Amino acid sequence: MHELSLLENVREILQDHAGSQNFTQVKKITLEIGELSCVEPEALRFAFDVVMKDSLAAQAKLILTKQKGLGICQRCQQSTPLKNLYDSCIFCEHPFITVIQGHEMKIKDLIVI
Ligand SMILES: [Zn+2]
Repeated sequence: MHELSLLENVREILQDHAGSQNFTQVKKITLEIGELSCVEPEALRFAFDVVMKDSLAAQAKLILTKQKGLGICQRCQQSTPLKNLYDSCIFCEHPFITVIQGHEMKIKDLIVI
């Protein structure tokens, strides 16, 4: 389950920010999940409780939002929506697309005290 290691990274980022920006508790965190990132929202919620236990985000409310996959076709240069990582271009059916959005999980918003 790679959700655990993703959230361990998030916890480290939060701890770094807490030190540099002087907060002690995260009240609410919004994570943006890319459609191509293979992150399961259910698994993520479960892992969140496990990973954030006893951390500054132990009481945090978790909000999950989705980001659509998007790529640039390497032949016709149009931006094409991607449902899967290996989709072809919807305009010219070229198989090589440079993914520009939706392949990762990001911290989108953070409310701290
Ligand atoms: Zn194309």
